[in-house]
Amino acid sequence: MSFQKFELHEKILAGVQALGYKKPTPIQLQAIPPIMEGRDVMGLAQTGTGKTAAFVLPILQRFMEKPLGHIRALIIAPTRELSEQTHEAIGQLGRKTKLRSTTIYGGVSMYNQINRLRGNVEIISACPGRLLDHIERGTIDLSRVEVLVLDEADHMFDMGFLPDVRRIVKHLPQKRQTLLFSATMPDDVRSLALDLLQNPVNIQIGHSAPVMTVAHRFYSVQMGIKTALLKDILEKTKMESVLVFTRTKSRAKSLAQQLDRSGHKVISLHGNLTQQKRKQALDGFRDGRYEIMVATDIAARGIDVTRISHVINYDMPSTADAYTHRIGRTGRASKTGDAFTFVTGDDIGLAHSLKRILGEKLQYQSVDGLTTEIQTSPSNKQNTIDLKSNKRRRSFAPHMQTRRKPKQRSFQNAHRSSWSHRSQSAA
Ligand code: AMP
Repeated sequence: MSFQKFELHEKILAGVQALGYKKPTPIQLQAIPPIMEGRDVMGLAQTGTGKTAAFVLPILQRFMEKPLGHIRALIIAPTRELSEQTHEAIGQLGRKTKLRSTTIYGGVSMYNQINRLRGNVEIISACPGRLLDHIERGTIDLSRVEVLVLDEADHMFDMGFLPDVRRIVKHLPQKRQTLLFSATMPDDVRSLALDLLQNPVNIQIGHSAPVMTVAHRFYSVQMGIKTALLKDILEKTKMESVLVFTRTKSRAKSLAQQLDRSGHKVISLHGNLTQQKRKQALDGFRDGRYEIMVATDIAARGIDVTRISHVINYDMPSTADAYTHRIGRTGRASKTGDAFTFVTGDDIGLAHSLKRILGEKLQYQSVDGLTTEIQTSPSNKQNTIDLKSNKRRRSFAPHMQTRRKPKQRSFQNAHRSSWSHRSQSAA
């Protein structure tokens, strides 16, 4: 099915075409029709599934016919990056329309935001804290909002924003359309949804497991060997664009410096950077000036760089959900990607849980002289690809079929069939 079937305005379809979207993703197929009917929607969708366009397109459609000049849609997101990304998507999809959007988040001038709000915009893409500042100062009028979108609601919960969200909602008209998207459904998000959504259409795309398009490799390694292993992987694996995650800001910074000294084109992204530096880092990573970005979780939320070929968890994330979100940075919207995770003795518990979720899709990989014996259950050992016999040690490049055990599935192909299957069944 194509986007034509949604009967979107031709100016909106022009935006879809300009972005090169050929057919709707499963979440778009399921969410766009009820949103266009004005229904509330609760979407359980992983990152990278195309959910932004799933809510932006119906919002644009709804506003095509009616008056301009005041705030009609409010999109609340946990991070500045996600706010920017949504704002950009609105700009691209709505390029031929007269609709205007702006971002509201902290760390940048309040004054400029007030000026932009005075310039009459229809759509606001905001983070909760700064939005509340504007509400309290009376510099924003939300009394005529028709559509509220809560994006990545589970991240907002993780970051302690749900009380702020509830406070903001009190300033919106009761009669409105509300859409809530979340990759996972912790109890607090569920109760928020119960309070805010009226008779919602529930949409679930896949399970809250990491994106299907990704091949998952774990490396059992000692803490002090991680950097050597990372350099070895970077040197020997064919990679387009690599996002490396560390647990702390200081480690993101120092690891980036070490990789830089080894001759890599690398930049770090962490919470200590100014907004301007973050933007420069992201732009440089997006346009390919930097091949590697070393980031912390919070900083990396909302990064939308379509050509990330590899995510490397230098440090294991703290939860399975965090793993899902990190991995959601690669394999976005039907592109394939690889996720490598370094597992130390401290990470075994989470490694076990991920193994249970991912099953055969997760493979342990050994690298001669760098990885250690896998300290997990015997079943994982069966999945080990033992590369010690390969003298040239290039064999961990997961793209190379010959390195795989005979019965191992190709994740790329597995993804393709599952993606098209899901599209067809959703259609
Ligand atoms: P999102 O999950 O909204 O962050 O989208 C992930 C990526 O998929 C973004 O780069 C979008 O531009 C892209 N995308 C969204 N919808 C489609 C589509 N129908 N076809 C191809 N790419 C898409």
